Parts: sequence; C-alpha cells; structure tokens
Amino acid sequence: MGELIIIDHPLVQHKLTMLRSIGTCNKEFRELVEELATLICFEATRDLPTVETTVETPICQTTGKMIEKELAIVPILRAGIGMANGMLNLLPTAKVGHLGMYRDPDTLEPVTYYSKLPKDAKDREIFVVDPMLATGGTASAAISYLKSQGVTNIRLLCLIAAPEGVTKIQNEHPDISIYAASCDSHLNSHGYIVPGLGDAGDRLFGTK
Ligand code: URA
Repeated sequence: MGELIIIDHPLVQHKLTMLRSIGTCNKEFRELVEELATLICFEATRDLPTVETTVETPICQTTGKMIEKELAIVPILRAGIGMANGMLNLLPTAKVGHLGMYRDPDTLEPVTYYSKLPKDAKDREIFVVDPMLATGGTASAAISYLKSQGVTNIRLLCLIAAPEGVTKIQNEHPDISIYAASCDSHLNSHGYIVPGLGDAGDRLFGTK
C-alpha cells in the first residue's frame, strides 16, 4: 500500500493555515503555494537513492553523495503550475512536464487533453504535483497515463488531500506514496475539500 505522508512541520502548518485564510490575496496565495511546495519537496525527496562519488575540495579529495536518478516534475494543469517553481527551487535541474486532464461529460472517463513530457520521462523519478487531492480522479488518471508511457517511479505531492482522494489513489495505485501538508475532513456536495481552501486554481490565478 502506498503511504500517505503528512508533513507536520511547524513551518508547513503555519503557511498552510495562512493559505487557507479567505483573507489571503492572490499574490500571497501564490507565494505560499510556492513556499509550501519547496518544503514538501524537501520531505518527498528524503529517501531518493544516492551514489557515492569523489569530490575535490580546495583542501583535498574526499567522497560525497549525489542523487542517483534524473528527476522530473509534472504539474497537473492548471493549479499544479503553482507548485512547479517551488519544486524547482530545490531541484533546479529537474525537467518539467505538463499534463492536462478533463472528465468527459458523457463517458465520465478522464481524458488527457494536453501532454508534454520529457522524452526520457520513463527513466526519471517523477513528482506529480497538484495542490488539491479531492476525489483523486484526475491524479489517478494522470498517474495511469504516466504509467502507460513507461514511467515506473512516481510520487504524488499535494498541499491538501481529502480522505476520498487518498483512498482512490491507494486502491488504484498502491505503489504510489502521497505527500501532503494535511488530510482534511471530507468532500462537500460540490466536490470541494472541507475545510480546504476553496478553489486553488482561482485563488492562484485570480480568476474568480
Ligand atoms: N479543487 C480545488 O481547487 N479545491 C477543492 O477543494 C477541491 C478541488
């Protein structure tokens, strides 16, 4: 079963509380999403495999560790974009792929309407980012799509998860670990996370 890792660090929880507030303006909201993405990225990379290497310091030669695999960040459009720069603060050489998904109103099946991934995505450790894991439908479909492209190492990073979304990912992708700042109470009848923070895309981009 994929793990749910809640980052219970005081900095993360403080920033998350500010993010939730209805009084936080779009500019502050964007900054907080970026900062939270950086902090969650730090935890989500904790167990990345490293290789030993030699390094020449100004004093002598010594050994050190370097991250073994190439990395890629895959924001799910559109709110995932808000987390990408925060991830890049710590992973500046990671490639960035983009995925756009929507649910077909007739079949209710998720459809990938946009995909631009690094050519060597299947060889990389992939960090899928989306601030709100609500029903989990989009994230699960994004992970399925990545797997269909040959990707095998995927982690899912969000800011707030709902229990419904966590259960869906754990059932459909038991190999995937989920990193979040909070797992909230439930989804309301409109599909919003309670207490949540409202519509992350609208608050990031000022579209409401
Ligand atoms: N997407 C959002 O932006 N907010 C929610 O609460 C649920 C899904």
